[in-house]
Amino acid sequence: MQHKNGKRVIISIASGKGGTGKTLVATSLALSLAGKERVQLLDCDVEEPNAHIFVKAVLNHKESVFIPIPKVDENKCTYCGKCAEVCIYNAVAVFKNKVLVFPELCHGCGACSYLCPESAISEEYREVGIVETGNSKGMDFVHGKLNIGEAMPTPVIRKVKSYINSEMTAIVDISPGTSCPVVEAVKQSDFCLLVTEPTPFGLNDLILAVEMVKKLGIPHGVVINRAGVGDTKLDEYCRKENIPILLTIPLDSRIAILYSRGITLVEGMSQWKNNFLRALVKIREIAHERACST
Ligand code: SF4
Ligand code: SF4
Repeated sequence: MQHKNGKRVIISIASGKGGTGKTLVATSLALSLAGKERVQLLDCDVEEPNAHIFVKAVLNHKESVFIPIPKVDENKCTYCGKCAEVCIYNAVAVFKNKVLVFPELCHGCGACSYLCPESAISEEYREVGIVETGNSKGMDFVHGKLNIGEAMPTPVIRKVKSYINSEMTAIVDISPGTSCPVVEAVKQSDFCLLVTEPTPFGLNDLILAVEMVKKLGIPHGVVINRAGVGDTKLDEYCRKENIPILLTIPLDSRIAILYSRGITLVEGMSQWKNNFLRALVKIREIAHERACST
């Protein structure tokens, strides 16, 4: 949450669709601040984390993320079916003389063990991913990696966010879309920066992302990437909805080349640092105003 002086904020970087340049914005925003104050970059895009490549993070600590899954003691079980009935994820099936648990469907909510009338269910732990921490160019760095084949990123996202340090500004890179894991990652941000591009797809997905942050009550603004590629409908929408456009990055082959080489925008073209810092001043103003009004 926001620090008293209005400076330390949690800023999530999201986008309605993939490929809009979200990581480009997250890494450059974080690097623009590094060296000026304490900052963390957290990559919550746990299915495809790539911020570490751009900021050349040095990772020196790793921990596993587990979820509890049920283990049935068939000596106590009466095959009453209650566990299967309460599991909304269909992760348990009860037959006449057998209970089957499907670990990959289990969300670890604990409802089955809590409600088993025979206390026949205990919990064992299954690794779903890892979180790695380290540093990069004067910043603290954290990212999560979901294990291959796993379908539940939320526990890994929660673990990444548990590293948010209220003494620092936190920049949180979030996976694209508006699904439950995205909501989990955006929650508790002081501000959400929505990265989009001026195309019909960009606008359509931005509208969905705006609906999401409005429902979560998070102040937000827009970064337009690849400006010049499409039409003016995006600007018109932002004006109509009173959403501030905090940064406009043009369609520029030099930027695309930097990105393809794994070089951040502010390192490849240092003149961009001031643009990111100006956006940050505005973000803090908006986040502070919101914090004071609630
Ligand atoms: S709720 Fe408990 S007793 Fe009933 S089937 Fe499930 S494990 Fe067995
Ligand atoms: S812990 Fe929750 S999700 Fe997993 S099997 Fe039990 S009820 Fe289903």
